[in-house]
Amino acid sequence: MIDVEEAKSLINQHTTTLSSIKVSLPEACGHVLARPVFAFCNIPVFRQSSMDGYAIKFRDVNKDLILKGEMPAGAMRSFEIYNGECARIFTGAPIPDGADTVVMQEKVQVSNTTVRIDDPNLVFGANVREIGAEIKSGSLAMDLGSYLSPPAIGFLAGIGINEVEVYKFPKLSIIITGRELQKPGMTLNFGQVYDSNSYSLTAALKQEGIKQISVVSADDDLLILTNILRDQLLNYDVILLTGGVSVGDYDFVLKATEAFGIDKIFHKVKQKPGKPLYFGKHGTKLVFGLPGNPSSVLSCYYNYVLPALRLLSGKDVPENKEARLASAYSKPAGLTQFLKGHFSGGIVSPLDAQESFRLSSFAQSNCLVSLPEHQQHFEAGDLVEIILIPD
Ligand code: AMP
Ligand code: MG
Repeated sequence: MIDVEEAKSLINQHTTTLSSIKVSLPEACGHVLARPVFAFCNIPVFRQSSMDGYAIKFRDVNKDLILKGEMPAGAMRSFEIYNGECARIFTGAPIPDGADTVVMQEKVQVSNTTVRIDDPNLVFGANVREIGAEIKSGSLAMDLGSYLSPPAIGFLAGIGINEVEVYKFPKLSIIITGRELQKPGMTLNFGQVYDSNSYSLTAALKQEGIKQISVVSADDDLLILTNILRDQLLNYDVILLTGGVSVGDYDFVLKATEAFGIDKIFHKVKQKPGKPLYFGKHGTKLVFGLPGNPSSVLSCYYNYVLPALRLLSGKDVPENKEARLASAYSKPAGLTQFLKGHFSGGIVSPLDAQESFRLSSFAQSNCLVSLPEHQQHFEAGDLVEIILIPD
């Protein structure tokens, strides 16, 4: 049995970023750039007004100005203003040739043909967005490794980019094992339990932006499971098996991975929940044997699977936070314990219903509390590590 830190570091060592792919900008959100993006033109590409008002020559600020014409946003042609002239202008419109400053419309008095400025605070160049003020042609817009958030997508669109090269998201296969499993929505027959693992895992993967997800149910049978594993490994980058990973008579995950020749990296971690966690590799493909109990599945997902998925797609792995325990807690020495918790204002409260078959308090939690292997007793106010559950 290895400890939690060794398990995390082995997964880290065995996980490398997937290849990159060109995608259209709307497809790119949530991905990481695999190639830097450079601006191919100045933005703005023309001098632009940032206000509705009047474009003037600053040196004419105290004169009665003659209204020369109008520049709405999207105007196709410019014109020039000469000394003593001004132009009506609107936000986003090109500044007419000869003008250098825009006065807000609230700061002028307009009679029939003349415009008088009443703005003592006006300075040269006010309300004019210069050419290249957002970005200059040829300069770096976003570097390789940048995460493409919705604002990043907007920024790239605004500089005319419609395609980017990003790291791929992994394709995931979830194989749930257990003859006792029934689909939600169906009647439970004697001895059956509802499958929740495929639902919680699918939801968590979708939240990460992963779209290619397969869910397969496997009977507790070595041949069936080995065949499913073979099939899924052909098409998917990561396999998540749930259940059947212990050493009971009906636990076939380990035997199936051995039968198919998957390299075992580790099996069993000094932790609660999730002691029987398995991690193996087949070429570049990752195989996680998660426990069956729904709470253990998610605890292992957030601790081990999610960091691996993020590494695969070139993302940063978020660092764990520290928080002060709201109440005392005791646990056995010799294993790391992960508690469902609620974190707020620097304080973390362990929740009820910590048993690994229960999800009721996991449903209310926003973090896992990590209580280290060698310590048994924790006092209220002790600093502990927490793993935040993504919103
Ligand atoms: P196992 O590791 O296969 O012995 O499963 C441990 C426990 O988790 C058993 O009580 C199973 O019925 C339960 N379990 C296994 N798979 C699922 C699942 N997909 N959804 C909900 N519970 C499950
Ligand atoms: Mg089982």
